[in-house]
Amino acid sequence: MILQRTIQKPATISGIGLHSGARINMKLRPATANTGIIFHRTDGDQTVDIKACSENVVDTQMATVIGKHGLTVSTIEHFMAAIAAFGIDNLHIDIDGPEVPVLDGSAAPFIREIQQAGTTTLNRSKKFVAIRKKLEIIEGEKRISIIPSRFFRISFDIAFDHPAISVQNYSMKFSTETFCKEIADARTFGFLNEIEYLKANGLARGGSLENAVVIDDNGVMNPEGLRYHNEFVRHKILDAFGDFSLLGSPLLGHIRAFKAGHDLNSKMVKMIEENPDHWTYVEFSEEALREAQRSNCKSFAIDLAWNKA
Ligand SMILES: [Zn+2]
Repeated sequence: MILQRTIQKPATISGIGLHSGARINMKLRPATANTGIIFHRTDGDQTVDIKACSENVVDTQMATVIGKHGLTVSTIEHFMAAIAAFGIDNLHIDIDGPEVPVLDGSAAPFIREIQQAGTTTLNRSKKFVAIRKKLEIIEGEKRISIIPSRFFRISFDIAFDHPAISVQNYSMKFSTETFCKEIADARTFGFLNEIEYLKANGLARGGSLENAVVIDDNGVMNPEGLRYHNEFVRHKILDAFGDFSLLGSPLLGHIRAFKAGHDLNSKMVKMIEENPDHWTYVEFSEEALREAQRSNCKSFAIDLAWNKA
């Protein structure tokens, strides 16, 4: 069977929060099978546990925010993408502030920490959500759909009325390796006038050229330039990958998005949950894996199974 995973040994991640500007510490601890991904806010009088699932999403305006009993954890998407990339289903995260550290604005620093911690399998099989029928959301010119596929694929189109971005599209057929090589280090981005507006309203206090690509009228302001000519659309795939992990099960399906963001990603996760007749749970036996390998079908599931812990 393809088995559930957690991390092998604890890890610590520290850095400033994008919005608060405050230093925040996260401690990652292994979890038992069927636990899920749980954030524990440890900075109050009492620890509050917030499971990373769509039911607990409380805001999707500028980042994906989960919350419970009035306490929230913001900007979880890059971290969630990194742990999903390694097939981690179960994890405890002690966090002493209201947002995940922004680090360099990408998932690459999280990837490095998880590689150091290592992953290990648990004695329970992993359930995949295999899409059987198309689901779609259209809001004005924004669209997102998911169609059946043997692989987990995300295809994204963006169109900005700014020459530094303009029209970009990219498609990722998911494997741990592809995610780490092509998507993980694409940074978040924003326009200077929007960031100034946020700062005037007490937000984005930690935002700087160290943790985001910032664009003004003349183009990209970061002295080091871009990591890819299409870093923007790659980052949108990174965000979507993190947001879709809130489904709680890895997907086998093809997501197609046009001008979408956290809001539509989150609505599509809810739509999948509310339409169980459009998908089925699948588990993978050793036999099925061997057959798939013989027929050279390198799917998400196969890649996960063949990952060395
Ligand atoms: Zn992002």
